[in-house]
Amino acid sequence: MDEIKKWKNVCKAKKITETLNKRHFKASYVETLEEAKEKLISMIEEGSSVAIGGSTTLSQMGMVDVLRNGNYKFFDRYQNLPFDPDIVEIHRKSLTADYLITGTNAITENGELVNTDCTGNRVAPMIFGPKNVIIVAGINKIVENIDAALKRIREIAPMNSKRIKHETPCVETGFCVDCDCKKRICNFTTIIHNGIKFEGRIKIIIIADELGY
Ligand code: SF4
Repeated sequence: MDEIKKWKNVCKAKKITETLNKRHFKASYVETLEEAKEKLISMIEEGSSVAIGGSTTLSQMGMVDVLRNGNYKFFDRYQNLPFDPDIVEIHRKSLTADYLITGTNAITENGELVNTDCTGNRVAPMIFGPKNVIIVAGINKIVENIDAALKRIREIAPMNSKRIKHETPCVETGFCVDCDCKKRICNFTTIIHNGIKFEGRIKIIIIADELGY
């Protein structure tokens, strides 16, 4: 990467990390995906139960393979199971995991976390349930404010729908049409304003790079 661009990315990562820490999240930043992976693994105690929220960044890291290595009790939602009822059961168990690792759809410049889910299996445990939540996010997730976060989510949702092979109108058009179909992926939206209620529970690793959608 261009050195000046890299420098700017690090500046952005540093600034948002400071903001997030002021909002009582436990945030830190790294420069590369590899460093983020190393840091993430070091934060998860071996033998603990771990759930994973759908995240392109975590997929890029190969975290599913790491969690299948036998050192963790992994609530593995990526097994080849029919969606109902087996996957739903894994989502239910995931609510009690020691760790939830996930991405986030958007982070505002004020340090709010904004997310939209299809099932709620990611946004619900981000708020309550797992003892620890570790969020990994590239600087491309930073947006000006909540309106911009919602706009961003609406823009990226068709890509997510295509990625997970949902039959939604946006997979044909590439744009959101606020659909009314069973396979709609935009059903539950949350804003996490701060981490003060359970100080230290939500940890955030910012990567000074553009990753995921
Ligand atoms: S509301 Fe429907 S059309 Fe819009 S992005 Fe979500 S799934 Fe696609």
